[in-house]
Amino acid sequence: MTEVSQVDRVMRRIEPELEEPYFMIIERGAAKCSHIDKGVTLDEASRTAICRGCKQVVDLFDALMNYAESERRLVLARERVEKFQKEQREKNERNRARMKFVRKVMSSKTKWKGEDSENMEEDGHILTLDCGHQMDWDRTLVPAEATCPTCRTAAKQPQQQPQS
Ligand SMILES: [Zn+2]
Ligand SMILES: [Zn+2]
Repeated sequence: MTEVSQVDRVMRRIEPELEEPYFMIIERGAAKCSHIDKGVTLDEASRTAICRGCKQVVDLFDALMNYAESERRLVLARERVEKFQKEQREKNERNRARMKFVRKVMSSKTKWKGEDSENMEEDGHILTLDCGHQMDWDRTLVPAEATCPTCRTAAKQPQQQPQS
């Protein structure tokens, strides 16, 4: 029996058993774990905290400090989100207040500069809005919508000029 065939026989015997490597190696990277933001598993029996990142036992006081720190950051993050939401709400309210006086332009009349009918120059428009009011528009293009100054002024003095 040759040496090669002996090796072959041994290999054939162990092969079906060794579908997974015999040695498991803990990666070196795991040793560099900061244990922060990983969370811990508390083992009641041994009264230890095990880092969920690297599975190493960590100091309980360190774990407590990390927990306190992440809690503090959570509170800060929540405050920031609430501040942002409040600002958005206020912005929406301001927009809605402005939109309240936006009216559809029903018709427009061009204004002309100068008396001379030969030499007339366009000088903006008078818009008629769907609230019934008219307003000056000193630009060349007629808009589809415009903020009615009459309605807005009326809303500012509700006692003198009630307006719906
Ligand atoms: Zn760790
Ligand atoms: Zn109006």
